[in-house]
Amino acid sequence: MYNTDILVVGAGAVGIAIARELSKFNIDVMVVDKKDDVGGDASKSCSSCISTEFTLTPGTLESKICQCSRPLFDQLCRDLDVPLNYCGSITPAVNQEQFEKIPSILKKAFDNGVYDVEYRSKEELLEMEPNLNPEVLGGVYSPRDTQINQFLLVVAQAENAAENGVEFLLDCKVEGIELEQGRVSLVRTTKGDIRTKYIVNAAGLGNDEIAGMVGECDYTVHPRKGQFYVLEKDTPVKVSHIILSIPLPQTRGKLIIPTVDGNILVGPTAEDLYDKDDKKTTKEGLKEVEREARMLVPGLHMEDTITQFVGLRPAREPEGYNILVSEKARGYVGISGVRSSGLTGSLGIAKYTIQMMREAGLTLERKKGFKATRKGIVNFSKASDEERDRLIAEDPLYGHVICRCETVTESEIVQAIRRPVGARTVDAVKRRVRAGMGRCQGGFCGPQVLEILARELGVDAEEIRKRDGVSYMLRHEK
Ligand SMILES: Cc1cc2nc3c(=O)[nH]c(=O)nc-3n(C[C@H](O)[C@H](O)[C@H](O)COP(=O)(O)OP(=O)(O)OC[C@H]3O[C@@H](n4cnc5c(N)ncnc54)[C@H](O)[C@@H]3O)c2cc1C
Repeated sequence: MYNTDILVVGAGAVGIAIARELSKFNIDVMVVDKKDDVGGDASKSCSSCISTEFTLTPGTLESKICQCSRPLFDQLCRDLDVPLNYCGSITPAVNQEQFEKIPSILKKAFDNGVYDVEYRSKEELLEMEPNLNPEVLGGVYSPRDTQINQFLLVVAQAENAAENGVEFLLDCKVEGIELEQGRVSLVRTTKGDIRTKYIVNAAGLGNDEIAGMVGECDYTVHPRKGQFYVLEKDTPVKVSHIILSIPLPQTRGKLIIPTVDGNILVGPTAEDLYDKDDKKTTKEGLKEVEREARMLVPGLHMEDTITQFVGLRPAREPEGYNILVSEKARGYVGISGVRSSGLTGSLGIAKYTIQMMREAGLTLERKKGFKATRKGIVNFSKASDEERDRLIAEDPLYGHVICRCETVTESEIVQAIRRPVGARTVDAVKRRVRAGMGRCQGGFCGPQVLEILARELGVDAEEIRKRDGVSYMLRHEK
């Protein structure tokens, strides 16, 4: 039996931001997730933009939270050593119909309080972004839109939260909640029972199932699939800004995104589904992405694709951010409707949720000695020659390259495993230090990463998994 004051369900961007924010106070906090790693579900497979969200409906909770949240990333990323690409975004109109929508986009940005979004002419846009469709008629420039390494955003906050006392229980699914006299008291999980005073439901796609356990589910959550391509770093036709499509009512359309790590991300689709496990890419979906992305940047080399993936947005019906501090099931806090802007909104959601919990009676006292900063793993591939010499002198494992595509060394992999809330699977290593993220997608380094994991964790190689579930990498034939 575990005991805590506040149990956060879901180790995605939202759950981890809440846990890290709570770790500033003298209160016991535990995070559980059914997956083997922190990073979430939608959070690790999204477009990874931390943006000004100037196209949201003005005045909504989503818009207010995102406007508060976006500026918080500048300090957080400095404190926790998370790379943020200050690239800005361009929304080009490539035909007359789109061009006529520009005044309403600018008005919406203004109504959202995003006053630095401005019109740019065809000539200006082509100077800023020479690979844009030469048919462009004009467009919108938003200087504060950024791209983030979404894996490190969550891992860094989780490491820092753990350093400040938050406990983590992974591979742990919430299966039931018990109330005593109308108050949350016990949570049943696949790893045993947890006694708690509060439960914060940040379970994304699983949100409605958990809300149903306390009778607070008058809505549904279904997946809205997004399919993406990742292009290799040395693809010849690149962009230096995030390129956005003119938004449609149900989707922001396709994006072309320059990532902090140098790849180009292209996508996503927006397909409503029922199956919460459907992560298959489809020929039609990927063709749609390619067709619409080429309307923005016709010269894109889609043949430089190194991988494709799917992300599932947790779409709520009725839609919209909803943060509930329950009166019916006291101690239950539900965060739903965080569908398409939750990476950007996560820091603001954490502040807002905790304030609502305080207003409902939670007493919080600041913790003395809270550690606000964390250092990331030093990236050998980005180090200068002198830095490389110094790194190898301090730790000879920096002299052993494991992933050739991304130049990732054994030292970085070992650190990823040994850190708080460390990697336990091959994909968890990949997300932290990029071993397996390059052109060969782990074909070369995968077996070595597996051996290092087994050695560091003191288990047989057959016990090492690619990710959660039964994804064992080796099969033992008798
Ligand atoms: C295609 C796509 C593009 C997007 N682009 C952007 C963008 O550019 N910018 C932006 O700001 N946002 C974007 N988003 C939205 C953003 O990714 C989400 O809003 C955000 O990640 C939601 O975070 P979360 O922590 O609530 O959910 P998740 O990351 O889904 O995490 C929920 C966690 O809860 C766990 N869980 C579920 N049920 C249980 C259970 N019963 N027990 C234990 N654990 C459980 C899951 O395993 C999961 O880890 C995009 C999303 C997608 C899919």
